[in-house]
Amino acid sequence: MSETFDGGCACGALRYCMRSRPMIVHCCHCKDCQRQTGTGFVVNALIEADRVEVLSGSPRGYAMPTDSGKPHMVFRCPDCATAAWSEYGGTTALRFVRVGTLDDPTAMPPDVHIYTRSKLPWITLPAGVPAFQAYYNSRELWPADSLARRKAAMG
Ligand SMILES: [Zn+2]
Ligand SMILES: [Zn+2]
Repeated sequence: MSETFDGGCACGALRYCMRSRPMIVHCCHCKDCQRQTGTGFVVNALIEADRVEVLSGSPRGYAMPTDSGKPHMVFRCPDCATAAWSEYGGTTALRFVRVGTLDDPTAMPPDVHIYTRSKLPWITLPAGVPAFQAYYNSRELWPADSLARRKAAMG
């Protein structure tokens, strides 16, 4: 059986379970992520939406402004406003779960660092983990199994 990973918001009203490992884990250093989290970067686990089970609470979506003009919805606990996951580009089949909301964030270290062009200068990236100035070609980087999962999720 698949491993599962529980997480939730700061107040405990929103609880969720990831029903498997993600397809890939991004550490994003872009300006949008810095501003929206109020910190240096965000760590997002990309997973099929139907593998994220809401155990309690009703996450509320908020539309974020984006440089690209493509939609970005952030889903937050309605009580404490902790951001639990995002949907990008209007793609509801995929979720970008914020790894910091997992009960054990050490379970999902970043597979790739992206938008390092705006990385804060005092952050040193680990050797051996791919890093890109902007985005990257998922066909070259993702495991074959993850590419197949994404294709299946996107229909
Ligand atoms: Zn909460
Ligand atoms: Zn970003």
